Amino acid sequence: MQIPIEIGYSLVKSDNNCEKLLALKQKGVISLQDEEYIQCKGCNELVNVVEFIGKSIINCPYCDKFCGLSTSRIKKIAISEIHTKKIFEILDTQIRNAFGDLNVSFDKIERNWTIKYNGKSTLIFIYGFSTVASFLSISDNEGVILYLDERKIKHFVHDLNKSRFKYIFDEIFSSPEQFIIFIESLDFSETLEYIKFRKNFDSFISSISDTQYEKEFIPKFFEGIKQKHKELSRLYSRLQQVENTVFNSKYLKKGGPGLEDFYLVNLHRYLQDGLQCDRYGESKRYTTTQFSFNNLMNALGHAKNFSESLFFVSTNDIAPSVWNKIMDEKTSDGHFKYVIIDKDLMLMLLKNLDLLYLIE
Ligand SMILES: [Zn+2]
Repeated sequence: MQIPIEIGYSLVKSDNNCEKLLALKQKGVISLQDEEYIQCKGCNELVNVVEFIGKSIINCPYCDKFCGLSTSRIKKIAISEIHTKKIFEILDTQIRNAFGDLNVSFDKIERNWTIKYNGKSTLIFIYGFSTVASFLSISDNEGVILYLDERKIKHFVHDLNKSRFKYIFDEIFSSPEQFIIFIESLDFSETLEYIKFRKNFDSFISSISDTQYEKEFIPKFFEGIKQKHKELSRLYSRLQQVENTVFNSKYLKKGGPGLEDFYLVNLHRYLQDGLQCDRYGESKRYTTTQFSFNNLMNALGHAKNFSESLFFVSTNDIAPSVWNKIMDEKTSDGHFKYVIIDKDLMLMLLKNLDLLYLIE
């Protein structure tokens, strides 16, 4: 059984799988806490005793009937914290052990690995944490996707792509030989388009000047998006079909220490908010530098007569404080006043709206 690595996941202490939970704790991947429950006599649901703190009687949160605080307790252990940084460290070591340091590169900004082995390139992502997940939500056959909780990806897995999805602590990853066999077994009859495509984008962006980017490329890109309204509505409806899953999400790194802190925003809403008309638009070319908080404030200064703005920035290296600002400035009904189309989303739009000719 795969333990879903999800805060709040719990097992009764007598459950045989508790050993697996404890083993994950041992690895430093999660923290655990003890919980006590009573079983409701009306509906048999388990009610956490913290519900009773400071109260002498309580109605069951599930059936709303009176639910006495009985003395027989059910003891459970629950995941109270997930240590993402540790997960990345363990995986990084396993990948390097199997394929050799020189053949592995980790992209700190996108949080994915590229493995070069036997003349083939493979991308490895962690679902929900690697930036390019929003690109992946649309393209099916790229790389290996590791997941922490099977329940979150199962709506998306089908016969043709299921071999690419693996539980992050699948035992094959602890054996270098098995890890290699797994990677070799994947069908790469088509080259990894994403790697090729990302490379094309990077070299195109480096080959043009700031002015060409702002005055030629972005206006053409925007015009292209408008012309491809059919493709755009198809993209929206594909996102809508996976609305409540992590596949319709964009990972934004939040300010603060560690990899743990992030927002997952509803990608469908984010794109729709950004690509509607009547927004002030600003575009900046970034090849090696970060899009900083100051860059954002300067751009917002230019847009002072507009309440809503859209930015096209050609990097995924965006300061966490920028994302904080974007999240803070959401409207009361949850819409985005400021939308950044970063490299990840530019790639997604170029690919899904058939606009690849723009970067050739
Ligand atoms: Zn009940």
